[in-house]
Order: sequence, then structure tokens, then C-alpha cells
Amino acid sequence: MKPTLPGIHHVTALTADAQKNIDFYTGVLGLRMIKVTVNFDDPTTYHLYYGDESGRPGSAMTFFAWPGARRGRVGPPQVTVTGFAVPAAALDYWRERLKERGVNGLTEEDRFDDKVLSFRDPDDMRLEIVATREPGGDAPAGGPIPPDFAIRGFHGVTIAELGPDPTIALLSGVMGFREEATDNGRTRYRAEGGSPYASAVDIVKVSTESRGFNGAGTVHHVAFRVPDDAQQTAWQSEIGQRGLAVSPVMNRCYFHSIYFREPGGVLFEIATDGPGFTLDESPESLGQALQLPPWMESDRAELEKVLPPLRLPDWR
Ligand code: ZN
Repeated sequence: MKPTLPGIHHVTALTADAQKNIDFYTGVLGLRMIKVTVNFDDPTTYHLYYGDESGRPGSAMTFFAWPGARRGRVGPPQVTVTGFAVPAAALDYWRERLKERGVNGLTEEDRFDDKVLSFRDPDDMRLEIVATREPGGDAPAGGPIPPDFAIRGFHGVTIAELGPDPTIALLSGVMGFREEATDNGRTRYRAEGGSPYASAVDIVKVSTESRGFNGAGTVHHVAFRVPDDAQQTAWQSEIGQRGLAVSPVMNRCYFHSIYFREPGGVLFEIATDGPGFTLDESPESLGQALQLPPWMESDRAELEKVLPPLRLPDWR
């Protein structure tokens, strides 16, 4: 059986200021803090996770917090915009809320069948709220956003490429995405068999901008979902057979990951749905205390000395 990738698992970006990031994603956007941990590859820095009520795959926006990191440049080849999904009736609420909060760069457009609000986070990273018809996910309970209006997870991502053909060939020829529509230089690909949520990958061809590079305010990688380890291994071999360099399976505790650069140059990850964020915390207490992988527990005292203190949201 050919394995399928039912959509986006998480998006990981870079912030220069963990506290401002927490205040914005939980306080303004009303996402739930679902995990406070360290970057497993650099445990003196935080890895912050936000999501819906249960932190399901398809809702996890994550950040490597690099204090004082230089600003990156948004441009190809990169995930240049991350889109969150809200119910269609929530558009007016979000327009007013983002205006009231003085969020930067707020604009609005029609795209395909949806209304889209575009704006920037405190690191100047581009985000979108897409008001769409079929909400999925669970609204975070107890947060600042009324549940009917809350962000339910991702809508999708926009990827800018200098020459998108090899990326499109990978997405549609190997990864099972199907072309859905084209509008104004943007072509939407949809994960096979995915729900309408967290399943859209928009490809835009960008020829005039300068190349992007990673730094604060840019997306580091996008991860796609697989249900289990066996399907991940199947993908590892499938991607490898296409001549792309794939990493070994990495244990990220809450999921297992493989990484590869798609032919256009964007870092892709394939991550398992399990074990999930309740591996080391109860569903009620997600994201309320620093969690370390078992192999770093013995370094906890030292790490806690080095990691800057954080003010976590008080609504959970
Ligand atoms: Zn990742």
C-alpha cells in the first residue's frame, strides 16, 4: 500500500525573543501553549510549541528561540507564510481584534473561496488567518478568544520558489498532493485524503525578490504527517530513491522525524502523529512547565540556570 501524507504536522520558525513570542501567540492569537521544552540539538535554547486544545498534529506552531538572533530574510526557497484556519463567521472578529492590538502589516484579500487576513508577528514574520467553511480541531478552552472564533489549527503554508517545477514534481508526483486551483500566480496543492484543514500547500514562483535566508522571523521547516513509524520508514526509502538526502529517524519525543531538503531547497520533515504531546504531561497541564527529554533530565539544574525565565500564559 502506498503510504499517504494527510497534511501538515507542524511548522517551525525562529524567534529572537521567547517572551514576546509567547505573549503574541497565546495572548493575541489565543493558541494554547502545549509544550515548553528545549531545542534537542541545542538544549541551552527553548523550543516552544503552540496549538489547539489537544495539540493535535496540524495545529502545532513551534519556535526555536534564539535570544538576539539576527533577523532572517524572507524569500525563496522558503515557507514564506503560515496560514491559520478560523470559521468563516470569525473574520470580522479577527479583523477588529488584530486592528485593536495594533498588529503590524494588517491587510485583507480574497483568495480562492476564502477571505484572508495577512499580518506580521513580533519578529516581523508573515502570518495569515484564513476564514474558511469547514472548521476542524478543538478551540483552546479558557483562552482569550471565544471558542466560536478561535484558531483551529493550520490552513496551510505558502512556499516561494525560484523555479518551482522540481518541487511541484515532488509534491504531486511523489508526496501525493493534487493540484487544486491557480489564482494570481499561486497554485494550491492539497494533501491526498486530508481534511480541509492543515492540508494546503500553495506554491508561488518568485523571480524578483532576493533569496531568503534563515534567521529570526523566518520559517525553519515544515513537517508533514504520517500516522506511524512504519509509514515513515516507507517514506524514508521512497524519498531516498528519488535521489534526495534523507536523515536517519530522529527521536523528538512527541514524534519521530526524518528531514530532507526538497529539490527547490526548502527543509521538509516527515513526522509521526504519535506519541503526542501528552507523553510527559496530562492533557490538562500541557505547556505549564519545562519538559526535557529523558536523556537530558540529569542536566536539568544546569539548563534551568542557563535558560532565561519565562512568563507562561496564566489561562491554563
Ligand atoms: Zn520539526
